Amino acid sequence: MAGHVVVVGGGVTGLAAALAVRAGAPPGTRVTVVEQSPRIGGKLHTGEIAGLTTELGAETFLVRTPEVVELARSVGLELVHPAVASASLLVDGALRPLPAGTLLGVPTDPDAVEATGVLPPEAIARLRAEPDDPGVPLGEDDIAVGALLRPRLGDAVVDRLVDPLLGGVYAGRADALSLDVTVPALAAAARRTFSVVRAAQAARAAAPVASGPVFGSVPGGLSRLVDAVAAAGGAEFRLGVPVRELRRSATGWRLVLGSARDPEVLDADAVVLAVPASPAARLLGDVSPAAAAEVGVLDYASVGLVTLALPETALPAGSGLLVPATEGLTVKAVTFLSQKWGTTGHVVRASVGRYGEEAVLQRSDEELVAAVTADLARILGAPVHPVDARVTRWGGALPQYAPGHLGRVRRARAALGEHRTLALAGAAYDGVGIPACVRSGTAAGTRVGQALRAGAESAHGR
Ligand SMILES: Cc1cc2nc3c(=O)[nH]c(=O)nc-3n(C[C@H](O)[C@H](O)[C@H](O)COP(=O)(O)OP(=O)(O)OC[C@H]3O[C@@H](n4cnc5c(N)ncnc54)[C@H](O)[C@@H]3O)c2cc1C
Repeated sequence: MAGHVVVVGGGVTGLAAALAVRAGAPPGTRVTVVEQSPRIGGKLHTGEIAGLTTELGAETFLVRTPEVVELARSVGLELVHPAVASASLLVDGALRPLPAGTLLGVPTDPDAVEATGVLPPEAIARLRAEPDDPGVPLGEDDIAVGALLRPRLGDAVVDRLVDPLLGGVYAGRADALSLDVTVPALAAAARRTFSVVRAAQAARAAAPVASGPVFGSVPGGLSRLVDAVAAAGGAEFRLGVPVRELRRSATGWRLVLGSARDPEVLDADAVVLAVPASPAARLLGDVSPAAAAEVGVLDYASVGLVTLALPETALPAGSGLLVPATEGLTVKAVTFLSQKWGTTGHVVRASVGRYGEEAVLQRSDEELVAAVTADLARILGAPVHPVDARVTRWGGALPQYAPGHLGRVRRARAALGEHRTLALAGAAYDGVGIPACVRSGTAAGTRVGQALRAGAESAHGR
């Protein structure tokens, strides 16, 4: 009889997994994606403001790694790229160019940083002296990014450069995020040399020289990618149905779906858990308490997006700006969406809420729009009068990879090692970016598909 794979979670990870199962599993294998919300895509969600298409979640993906580029092409979609790429940094209330040649904000060229004016003279002098300031290379243990950088480069580098850039990706803080996960090339180089500036230079020099665009999307937005990948996977979709329990059964796995009052049982030969850490830990509780304990400690930052449609407004050149926490504003980043993508209209999108600042998301939509509008007016130095506004709240938006994250993921997967037909995938484990999620989902789908194939072949004596 043909096998049955259940993918729990219909975000980009689960969809990539569903597609990959097909490639590796025996012909005729059924795939069911169970998603608790009424739509697929998870944090990829294209919507509208003032009649203009706009991303309400993730906005773009890296095209310097192959995962999403190949996925999009495999489902027949072309790529589009930003029309402008340069971003600014707000420092002491003034917009400055984001220095070139940094490694996630860690300077490699003090002259280039000095030219932008983002650091005070004493911080630049310290950067220049750092390679000659004796020290010891980083030890084997993972530490927070800030714990490496603050003692060597000073607070200004962390607060004005590294924190805003890390915040743009993780909505987290340099003092809490894992160095090994967030800047692995720097971590590796810092284990060979005591100088952080030299380590950053070595890490950049070792990176392959790339040209062309860094980011991309697909025409019509990321929900088109989601829909095309879902269609190509040929899975059955169960939407608006949470998975509440996962247990071992005599022949494979048994899942309990739906509400507690009206539960439904679904049997599977293999399962991919492509959900955030808390639901994953709950579902693993019965199968592997050890894996559940490792996964369950992962914390998340929540973020809000305030998208504004403006009348014709003079915006600074570039794709947008980052705001260090030390500037004391509500907004942490602003993207000039229409300008960045060269599309019609005047749409800007501000993100609010860093890790530990959840209170800001409890403000009403009106209060958030007013706060963002006021911040924007202050930054632009001119009044701002939106013609339309849309607030999107993402609770549990971005996992906060604390030091030791890689070890925890290794231990969680090792605890599941005996279950070759159960895989963990997604932003909770292998990286928050869309490419990392696609890679993680593809690996999980391939793994369980191959396990089913191996099982089928040994059952047929091959
Ligand atoms: C505001 C925002 C902006 C971002 N911007 C970018 C960006 O520009 N570029 C980039 O590369 N990355 C970006 N990211 C990160 C990236 O979008 C996410 O990390 C990625 O989409 C996560 O995909 P996922 O499938 O692992 O998880 P999710 O998208 O969270 O999908 C998990 C799915 O599981 C479902 N689920 C949960 N529990 C259950 C259950 N018990 N039963 C059934 N279903 C369940 C959820 O409803 C959800 O649909 C952004 C994230 C956010 C929040």
